[in-house]
Amino acid sequence: MTNIGKNLQTVLHQITEAEKAANREPGSVRLVAVSKVQPAEAIEEAIKSGQKIFGENWVQEARDKYVPLKEKYPDIELHLIGALQTNKALDAVKLFDVIQTLDRPGLAVEIAKAIKKTGKTPRLYVEVNIGNEKQKAGISPEDLAAFLKECKEKHGLEISGLMCIPPANEDPLIYFNKMKFLTTTHHLPHLSMGMSADFQSAIACGATEVRVGTAIFGTR
Ligand SMILES: *Cc1c(COP(=O)(O)O)cnc(C)c1O
Repeated sequence: MTNIGKNLQTVLHQITEAEKAANREPGSVRLVAVSKVQPAEAIEEAIKSGQKIFGENWVQEARDKYVPLKEKYPDIELHLIGALQTNKALDAVKLFDVIQTLDRPGLAVEIAKAIKKTGKTPRLYVEVNIGNEKQKAGISPEDLAAFLKECKEKHGLEISGLMCIPPANEDPLIYFNKMKFLTTTHHLPHLSMGMSADFQSAIACGATEVRVGTAIFGTR
């Protein structure tokens, strides 16, 4: 049986220590608890331990679990961190407080439409394919400036952050530093990077949000 409350305390402590080590302001890094595949009971245990920010990968699964949870706990903040299909953009805008995976022009069009239709304005981050990997989603670093401009000027979207998943089995530091450079260049307040295995390095490089699943909920 996984001790979610205790794991949360450990991760929060590690975040605090990493902030200190990097001379970052205390509380400048927010923990997104990644609850994909986890049952509602596990999420509720995390909520009762004080956690308020959660990340999910799939719209349908998130809706099934979080519509009731948000009714019961209205101050939950829900982030979409998985790939978003264009035909699910409307559902995503209705459900999520933050969409971290805006990764292509066609999706920007649909998110803009959904925002007009619903009047809801989730925070939006652009996913960057920081390693320029063929199989991976995201805007390449070279195309980021043009994409941000297109989002703003063509679709009226306010982008407030960047997110990335660096290449697996490589030292992530060089990629985390590139991401920090990009967020600074474009004056964006939010930078989402770092998972269970590398969130402390991500904090050293300037992450403002880390996405941690396994270290809180156990293996999936
Ligand atoms: C699953 C997932 C995470 C959490 O990964 P852990 O290794 O379990 O901490 C973070 N970000 C994204 C995009 C994910 O899909």
